[in-house]
Amino acid sequence: MAKRDYYEILGVERGVGEAELKKAYRRLAMKHHPDRNPDDKAAEEKFKEASEAYEVLSDASKRAAYDQYGHAGVDPQMGGGGGFGNNASFSDIFGDVFSDFFGGARGGSRGGPARGNDLRYTLELDLEEAVRGTTVTIRVPTLVNCKVCEGSGAKKGSTPVGCPTCGGIGQVRMQQGFFSVQQTCPRCHGAGKIIPDPCEACHGQGRVEEHKTLSVKVPPGVDTGDRIRLSGEGEAGAMGGPAGDLYVVVNVREHPIFQRDGKHLYCEVPISFADAALGGELEVPTLDGRVKLKIPESTQTGKLFRLRGKGVAPVRGGGAGDLMCKVQVETPVNLSKRQRELLEEFRGSLQSDSSHSPKASGWFEGMKRFFGDL
Ligand SMILES: [Zn+2]
Ligand SMILES: [Zn+2]
Repeated sequence: MAKRDYYEILGVERGVGEAELKKAYRRLAMKHHPDRNPDDKAAEEKFKEASEAYEVLSDASKRAAYDQYGHAGVDPQMGGGGGFGNNASFSDIFGDVFSDFFGGARGGSRGGPARGNDLRYTLELDLEEAVRGTTVTIRVPTLVNCKVCEGSGAKKGSTPVGCPTCGGIGQVRMQQGFFSVQQTCPRCHGAGKIIPDPCEACHGQGRVEEHKTLSVKVPPGVDTGDRIRLSGEGEAGAMGGPAGDLYVVVNVREHPIFQRDGKHLYCEVPISFADAALGGELEVPTLDGRVKLKIPESTQTGKLFRLRGKGVAPVRGGGAGDLMCKVQVETPVNLSKRQRELLEEFRGSLQSDSSHSPKASGWFEGMKRFFGDL
């Protein structure tokens, strides 16, 4: 059978440009594509013919050989030689032209066994839970294998059958002369099987959406952003593929007393003006309960007291951090008459002696320098 002229097949002039060529091919490919013309032999032939013509004419060197020698120049079976017929490069062109109007649904493994998606779950924990570890029960939405059809997607009593279009391979091959195109089977979308009688519970998908309840063991010392991986607890895989994983991501809630920075904890402790001046013993909170903290005399506001080992033992090992208590001297309020008198008297006693005010005296010195010695 004599081959038709490639330019004639595509309905273009010999000097046609690349863009015009692609447009002509797209128009024909759309019209004759097997997806749109199932079981139409004539359309399939036209599609193959146009594809072959485009494959040659869209390649500059093949086109030059064709222009000079005709079909003999590009078809190895015709003896012209030229080393063409590279399937890979052809499918590249094919993918390029098709991906935009067939929705890119031509992936090789579409519909075949595929690993399920990983899922992410944000777990809110109190600081105490994060530090000590806990076991929590969570409910996660996920795709699980349909129980009615056991994941097959086929109605009970029926089974998926080999796809008659591709013979169960999932790919269809079109071959003519040197050129051979493999594409995902349009009927089974690459699965190699079709379900003539789909399961009603999952509409043939083999998977259904469900909430599942899981128990998560949270190790002591976790912090915001830490992830706990639950292997195989993600979405069920498609067509018998393995399930994905579930990642539980920790988010530690703010605590009313403690701020956390890694393995250390910080808190503020109010102390009375008298305790700060005279020294005393304070009760400070730790995650294990209250402890006594001795405050020396002349304690200034903002001073940090370190309680070793009262922080957090990190989840990745190593010693526990510290608890840092920052004291805040509190100004007394709601004073009685007697208290006022005592304070007035106290104030009078300070008047002429700056040695009782280390911060203030330094501050006044600085101010003097700043304003040029008042
Ligand atoms: Zn089902
Ligand atoms: Zn098929």
